[in-house]
Amino acid sequence: MHAVPKPECEEALDRLFEYIDHELPEDEIHLIGEHLKTCPPCEAEHKINEKIKRLVNRTGHDVAPEELRSRILATIRATRPETS
Ligand SMILES: [Zn+2]
Repeated sequence: MHAVPKPECEEALDRLFEYIDHELPEDEIHLIGEHLKTCPPCEAEHKINEKIKRLVNRTGHDVAPEELRSRILATIRATRPETS
């Protein structure tokens, strides 16, 4: 983990799944979309979660099993270049 997330980051990350599922009202979708554009760490989380959702959809599950999720996260983080 990096720095402590800002409150708006926590809110965005909190609603990421709903955002991806388009379950939020339009103004909130807009708000989070704007945040993701200006916040690379949240945008990265968004991309990871979208990827997970696509993979999970392909397997026919509604919700990512924890094991699958952590395996995907580990794979993505392992392939990500070091940020130092
Ligand atoms: Zn953020």
